[in-house]
Amino acid sequence: MTTGLHEDVLDGAVPDRAVPDGPVPDGGGLYSDVEELLDALAADRDREALVHRDRRIRAGELVDTVHRLAHVLDERVERGSVVALLAGNTPEAVVARLAVTLLGAGITQPHEGLSAAATARIVADVEAPLVLADADAAASAEAVLALVDGVEVLWLGAHDGGTDLLELAAAASAEPVRGRARPHDVEQIRHTGGTTGHPKGITYTFDHHRRGAEMRRRAGNFGAGATGGRLLVATPVAHVGGAMADRTLAEGGTVVLQDSFEPGAFLAAIERERITHTFLLPPLIYRLLDHPDLDRTDLSSLRSLVYGGAPANPRRIAEALRRIGPVFTQFYGQTEAGGISVLTAEEHRNPDLLGTVGRPIPTTTIAITDADGRPVAPGERGELWVHTGMEMDGYWKQPELSAATVVDGWVRTGDVARQDADGYLHLLDRVKDMIVVVGGHVYTSELEDLLMEHPAVRHAAVFGVPDDDGTETVHAAVVTDSPSPSADELTDLVADRAGAMYVPSTVEFVERIPLTGIGKTDKKRLRAELAGQPR
Ligand code: AMP
Repeated sequence: MTTGLHEDVLDGAVPDRAVPDGPVPDGGGLYSDVEELLDALAADRDREALVHRDRRIRAGELVDTVHRLAHVLDERVERGSVVALLAGNTPEAVVARLAVTLLGAGITQPHEGLSAAATARIVADVEAPLVLADADAAASAEAVLALVDGVEVLWLGAHDGGTDLLELAAAASAEPVRGRARPHDVEQIRHTGGTTGHPKGITYTFDHHRRGAEMRRRAGNFGAGATGGRLLVATPVAHVGGAMADRTLAEGGTVVLQDSFEPGAFLAAIERERITHTFLLPPLIYRLLDHPDLDRTDLSSLRSLVYGGAPANPRRIAEALRRIGPVFTQFYGQTEAGGISVLTAEEHRNPDLLGTVGRPIPTTTIAITDADGRPVAPGERGELWVHTGMEMDGYWKQPELSAATVVDGWVRTGDVARQDADGYLHLLDRVKDMIVVVGGHVYTSELEDLLMEHPAVRHAAVFGVPDDDGTETVHAAVVTDSPSPSADELTDLVADRAGAMYVPSTVEFVERIPLTGIGKTDKKRLRAELAGQPR
């Protein structure tokens, strides 16, 4: 096996992590997170658990619906199989996932933003015998089903000519179903946002959750946990928002679901629902800051806004602290690796730290390496490897890629980082986004931050386009205030601060930076848009 990682880095640093398969209690499986969550709901049936549009669902109704669904699905879902869920941020998506998980089957919920062809590839690839689709996803589900053979579909609601699973469930028993999962069964396959290439299936087994819970117990939640609070989820439940929702439900809180992120509706929900906790990606925070309602919305209930998932610009985070309050905690992590580092709410008081992604969480060990896999000198930049104890259980059906990415529990993040003398991590770029130019590399996050140093630049995205000679040209798209600086003013700023190599060949002024379904800058789309334009 070629690890690319030098022995010194691995030696002795990795705690023993044998996965107990253990004896399984008769008839039932592992006492999983889902059962813990359902037990918490059953113990407090009157609690408002889920809010969506004009519906308010109490904990008792939620737990009963999950068990009813599990009874109906029991004959149709085999332990160890993978079910595809085509659904948005709806209560139906939440109950369907919990019921399938309880039965010991895996779930994959492709992001709504994916094309029908990409979603169909995922459904076929996980060999899902069953697709569950909710009313919101009906049209796209039809398009997906037309492309895959031999899949049964059940609808989470009335659907012309189809089986309505909720109707069947309403007549079923609410008698609790015991969890069927075994530790090594697949619990979830998450397909990444597609910011880099074809979506890959990141696989977690049921044991992953047990490890995650153990790591959380050891590392803590840095004041960002929504215990007993009210969590607003406006990003896809198939990403970080869903994991936070589960924990909130398990810990006595309420989850308010929004179909998608729209800044005006998001602000209104915080005020109306007295939201205490939420999660956003940095580009979505910029959209809040640029929304006219921000300064007239009552945000006094908000105790914690966790952000992460993409680079955050220090100038804009400082603005967010000023205008929204001292509620920000930044997490840096990865679907493959789990939690890597945190910049706590307290650390946000120090403006010098806002350009960092904080320090590794106590349960995470890091190594920064050169191209040969040797540790770089302290303070130098290199590729970040992490050992979190929460790494994925591999890429679905891609053993070689899995073996190259996870080596003895160490995950190759594909991020370029450096660690300063105080232990804070600075992320420069994803290796795949770095632009190879004549004379060196341009780190796109670094150049984006540089452009955003101009007080009139609200958001910037930098991307490379291949040239015939094997190098790339640098392009930027910017959202600016009016009066807007000229392209020359911005390129002069870059030349002055970073040198000619960093100067973009084009600077395009756009109304909005396109984002993926999750809320990250969509560099693929920027490239495609540029290619479609006369140059
Ligand atoms: P995903 O697993 O698809 O959500 O993407 C993980 C990647 O997003 C990481 O490898 C980083 O490149 C980026 N990322 C996540 N959190 C942060 C953060 N706080 N700051 C900068 N980049 C981040």
